[in-house]
Amino acid sequence: MSLAKVKHIVLVLSGKGGVGKSSVTTQLALSLSLAGHSVGVLDVDLTGPSIPRMFGIEDAKVTQAPGGWLPITVHEADPSAGVGSLRVMSLGFLLPKRGDAVVWRGPKKTAMVRQFLSDVFWDETDYLLIDTPPGTSDEHISLAENLLQKARPGQLAGAVVVTTPQAVATADVRKELNFCTKTNIRVLGVVENMCGFVCPNCSECTNIFMSGGGEVMANDFGVRFLGRVPIDPQFLVLIETGKRPTYPAGTTVDGKDISTPAGAS
Ligand code: ADP
Repeated sequence: MSLAKVKHIVLVLSGKGGVGKSSVTTQLALSLSLAGHSVGVLDVDLTGPSIPRMFGIEDAKVTQAPGGWLPITVHEADPSAGVGSLRVMSLGFLLPKRGDAVVWRGPKKTAMVRQFLSDVFWDETDYLLIDTPPGTSDEHISLAENLLQKARPGQLAGAVVVTTPQAVATADVRKELNFCTKTNIRVLGVVENMCGFVCPNCSECTNIFMSGGGEVMANDFGVRFLGRVPIDPQFLVLIETGKRPTYPAGTTVDGKDISTPAGAS
């Protein structure tokens, strides 16, 4: 099967759309590849595939090889720079035109998910991140069934759950966590996105909404809280260009220094 050369599979889940799940997937992929790991991203958000846009590869088209569909390369590995390869597969690459609507019933989505798991040729890959649609839809059930059946023991590392801090979002994410419990998918942790606003002038982070809802929820479920990401206009721009955000010296979130180390970008 096409996942044979993949070491770890990580699902990225969210209860609601628009909380930043695809952004977190993209940044996680970039960070892992910049740390030297070979990374694949599989975009299973069939009706709203936004991953190709976030990597700036919207017009790419996948080709078929004997081993399956060849994912699109964002960058090759550069061992001298300590950078790993980054490849992406998305339904967006198979649509005839950019922005074409995908109006499919459940069985067709289920079949597509199965095909994505069996027909994409992932070469040696340390981490395969799977970006899922919001909620617990046909795609999730199909993913869980296929992965639990086909993955090697330990290959499915688990799920990263993304939420915003507000109670309306965390209420939906609780359903997502229950889904993981029911399907025996380990929750690696919760990321709280958009938990404050980074001022573009002074880099100070202000909690314009409430903060901490993701952490409370993680504690309630006994899962790890992985951290907070503020609303950052710089992030918004950089996510469109597919680069890791950089922060000037002295930038802090919750008193923690998040400035970019010298030499990194
Ligand atoms: P989802 O995948 O949950 O639907 P997206 O990742 O597509 O959400 O994010 C929705 C929008 O919010 C995108 O335009 C994205 O660039 C923006 N966004 C997400 N997280 C942040 C953040 N921390 N700061 C600024 N903009 C963000």
